[in-house]
Order: sequence, then C-alpha cells, then structure tokens
Amino acid sequence: ERTREEWQHLDRQHHLHPFTDFKELAGKGSRIISRAEGAYVWDVDGHQILDGMAGLWCVNVGYGRKEIADAVYTQMQQLPYYNNFFQTAHPPAIELARQLTELAPRFKQVFFTGSGSEANDTVLRMIWRYWQLQDQPQRRVVISRKNAYHGSTLGGASLGGFGVVHEQMGTLIPDIVHINQPYWYGEGQDMSPEEFGLLRARELRDTIEEIGADKVAAFIGEPIQGAGGVIIPPATYWPEIQKICDEYGILLVTDEVICGFGRTGEWFGADYFGVKPDLMPVAKGITSGYIPLGGVMVSERVSDVLMGDAGEFYHGFTYSGHPVACAAALANLAILRQEHLVTRIRDDIGPYLQQQLRTLQAHPLVGEVRGLGLFGAIELVADKASHRRFDSKQGVGMRCREHCFQNGLIMRAVSDTMIIAPPFILSHAQVDELVSKAWKCLDLTARSIAG
Ligand code: PLP
Repeated sequence: ERTREEWQHLDRQHHLHPFTDFKELAGKGSRIISRAEGAYVWDVDGHQILDGMAGLWCVNVGYGRKEIADAVYTQMQQLPYYNNFFQTAHPPAIELARQLTELAPRFKQVFFTGSGSEANDTVLRMIWRYWQLQDQPQRRVVISRKNAYHGSTLGGASLGGFGVVHEQMGTLIPDIVHINQPYWYGEGQDMSPEEFGLLRARELRDTIEEIGADKVAAFIGEPIQGAGGVIIPPATYWPEIQKICDEYGILLVTDEVICGFGRTGEWFGADYFGVKPDLMPVAKGITSGYIPLGGVMVSERVSDVLMGDAGEFYHGFTYSGHPVACAAALANLAILRQEHLVTRIRDDIGPYLQQQLRTLQAHPLVGEVRGLGLFGAIELVADKASHRRFDSKQGVGMRCREHCFQNGLIMRAVSDTMIIAPPFILSHAQVDELVSKAWKCLDLTARSIAG
C-alpha cells in the first residue's frame, strides 16, 4: 500500500486527467478516493465524504451493491465477452434490449455502445443514414443548443455547445448548428418563464426557416441540461419543441445520458416533459456506473427505415452490448424496480430534497436555487437583486467546491453554479446533512471572498 503522497506523486507524473485545470491541480495534488459505500466515498486518509454528485451523475443505486458485483462475477465466468457482429447475439444483450423497450415502449430496438459519447456519435450516423434512405440526403443539419453537453468524441463534442471546447479545438464536424438554451434565470429575466420558454423554443423554427427546412435533419437536447448547470426548462419549452419538430418532420432526439433511469422521478426525461423522441441516447445510470455501457433507443419510425430493405448499417463497436456490462445493467434495473427508487424520487425523497435545498435561497451568496427530482443547482452571485455575477477570476465556484470537499461534501462547480445530483438511495437524514454542510460551505466561501 502506498501513502497519499506517493499516490499523488505518481498521479502527477503519469496520469493525464480529463476536464482538469492542470495548473490548479499541480498546486495541491489530487484527492485520492479509495473506497465507497452507499452515498459516501472515503479518501486514502479516511475522510468520509457525502457524494452529492453520485460519482459523475451515475451511481444512482449507490455504492457497494453486491447484487451488481455478483451479476458481473457470474457473467464473467459464463461468457466474459462475445460480439454481436457475426449474426450472433447473447442472452444478456437480448434481455437488456427487451427490458429497455418495455420501460420505454415507444422504442422498438436498442443499439448498444460503450458510453454516452459513443451513443451520440451513433445518433448522428443514424440520423444521416435515415435521411439518406428516405431519399433526402441533403437533410444534414442537426440543431443543438449552446451550453449543451453531449460527450467528448468528435460527434459528441460537435453536438455540444460549450464555447471553450469549440475554441480549443477549432471547427469540429460541419452541419451542426447551436441555438440558445432555455436558461431563464441567466438570460430571461425581463419576461415570465413561460414566455421565455416559448421564445427560446421558437428559435428552433426561425433557425429551420433560415437554413431551409429541406436541409434540416434533427434537433437534439438534454431534457434538463446537466453539465451546462442544471438548466430546468420552463414548462412551455419542450411541448413547443415537439410541435415544431412535428411540423417540419425533423427527428427529435432527447439525450437521456443523465436524465434517463429515474433522476427526474420518471424513467426518462422525455416522459417527465411529455415529449416523444425518435432517438434516445442513454448511458451512465443504465449500470449506475458500475461498468461502462451506453446505447441508443430507436423508435419504430427510425428502426423500420434502418432495418427495412436497406442492408447493412456500417457502424458498431467491439464492446457494443458487452455481456458483462449488460449483466450489470440488468442487476441495476432489478434494484431500481424492486426498491421503487424512481417513484421514491417522484413522491418522497425528490420533493424533500427540493424543499430543503430551497432553504439555501436565504444565504447572501445565493441568487437562485433550482432543481427537480434529484437534480439541484445553487447559483452564486455577487448581487442578488441584479443577478450580477462574480468576476470569473475570483473562482468563487471552485473555492466553494474546495470548502465542500474539506467539509465532507462533494458538489460540482459549473463556473459559479454549484451542482448536485445525489444517489437515489439518499436518506432524509442525508438530505439534511447535505443541506447543512452546503450552508456551512457557502459561509466559508463568503468569508474567503471577503477576506
Ligand atoms: N450526454 C450527456 C447529457 C452527458 O451528460 C454526458 C456525460 O456527462 C454524455 C452525453 C457523454 O457520456 P460519456 O461521458 O459516457 O461519454
């Protein structure tokens, strides 16, 4: 066993971290997490930390679930790997596809991938293949949104709307256009949320008209933008998007990588907002993050065209439908069902978390608290009345994240918005713990800005 310092040294030497400011990391070294149970993780020094982010929006059934570990172990012994390419298939992939289409009955089939990013690359290729087979190959443009996150492969990053990603890497895949997000607190203050939702949704129509309706293939959006800062759209937004997609016959894609498998209190974000997507990328919560797995749920509209007389769809991954990952997913779905974790979010722990989280609104640093189900966001501002933000150089969100870590709580900072997405098994007492630690860390953050 190595000491913390040894791990940190080796980490600095050899481990290139994703999405990490290396300058900042170099100053202090990584926090080395070595075990986890339920809603908590522990670092190598033995500090217990409440995981308000369920890993990275994924460990929904909590850590240490023996049922998933056992299913993985059994599957590894029986059939650790086989592909689905050679007109072959195996029971875990078939059964998982069946169960997924049962959970979301408007979907006929599932195409498996290794991650959410691969799922979104698959979505792009399915969209383009679909319109080619419909004799409309000129329909290439996919409309996405600013501040969206759809992954880090070329397709996922191109669909994504983070300005810095596009700035760092130049022009990515062409034929992808970004419209504004339905971010009412930050961008819609002079009108009601309902009016603002309609305004932002109608940008889709204006953009289709500008590009030419015969060139537009699809619209993609996360039901709730996660990594962009937990942007909860006004109630008017998604119904209007659905209406416009129907009117122009373009494909509607809801990226369910975060919302999928219960976080809103419904099985999928599309169910929560009452929309009917044609394609639905999923990942993360499908296995509660225990083993990497993603997929695209394919509706009859798309599946009938792709599977018709078209012949082969030239696309697939070595790990498409990996049997061990599928076994983990089946055990995970069984837990979600047996413990009624999704209805628990809708009827019990979701409303309790939302109610308790709203008490943070009284803190002088807090501009808005928003959330839904087991999503939460606490937006920190320099001036509550005008919603004026802090100078980004002050790094207020990162300071708050650091205070949280030091005081036994993980919250993510998306610039100055603190994000939570805790595991579904969170108890009422753990909600109280989360909120009281958050208040304390907001105090410490306020003091560190003042001092
Ligand atoms: N789509 C959304 C909405 C996500 O939040 C993410 C990851 O956070 C992805 C796609 C990419 O998934 P992955 O990191 O598994 O490739």
